[in-house]
Amino acid sequence: MRTSLVVANWKMHGRKSEVTQLLSAIKIGIKAGVAAAEKVVICPPSIFLGQVEQELAGSKIAIGAQNAHPQIKGAFTGEVAFAMLKEFSCSYVIIGHSERRELFAESDKFVTEKFLAAQEQNLIPILCVGETQTQRESGLSKAVVLEQLQAVISEAGIESFSNAVIAYEPIWAIGTGLTATPEQAQEVHATLRSFLAELNREIADNITMLYGGSVKANNAKALFDQVDIDGALVGGASLDAEEFLTICAAA
Ligand code: PEP
Repeated sequence: MRTSLVVANWKMHGRKSEVTQLLSAIKIGIKAGVAAAEKVVICPPSIFLGQVEQELAGSKIAIGAQNAHPQIKGAFTGEVAFAMLKEFSCSYVIIGHSERRELFAESDKFVTEKFLAAQEQNLIPILCVGETQTQRESGLSKAVVLEQLQAVISEAGIESFSNAVIAYEPIWAIGTGLTATPEQAQEVHATLRSFLAELNREIADNITMLYGGSVKANNAKALFDQVDIDGALVGGASLDAEEFLTICAAA
């Protein structure tokens, strides 16, 4: 079922004390019924997952991770397995974020391995797709996101999307302060949904699709008003409780 979902991607930010402060402000807001979003997910740096699990105990806020390695275990120094995320009550995991694709050279193939490994552990993958500024200027936005999506579908199968979330994240809008206009975002979301519908209408109708890219308190509502946008993946603005809660309220 399509769910209004707001996901906080804290990236590599925070210290123990800041995690406590931020979570406590978010918890108060959510408890007070500020959020219209059906589901709110916090994705902290992995090292804070234990702390976040403890501090969110008893709250309805869900926990997600930003990344993991597709192998179950082994000699992968510095990596974390999806099965480990489960032990810290994670239910979501971001897969294929453009920062992973660009800075850590993650290929579509590797992204797909992670997507499958996440689902094997009953984690819901939030699959990120998005184009660069140059690709957009060359009119390639739709082709790029469809290629990224198709790469996962080819290996994982369309049925696997009955338990996944897609996040359209134009790279030129991430952390730049530039946001896709609601119309630009809607156009790509609609393209993704109709592509899925050609393969399986039920999945297309039910999948939750997020927009990500400089979502802020002042632009969230207009984005959420679009028919194919179900929520947001929020980076920078998720580090400010008031800003984040306003986005959750708009969902
Ligand atoms: C992100 O990291 O997924 C993101 C959308 O970041 P920001 O909101 O800061 O653009």
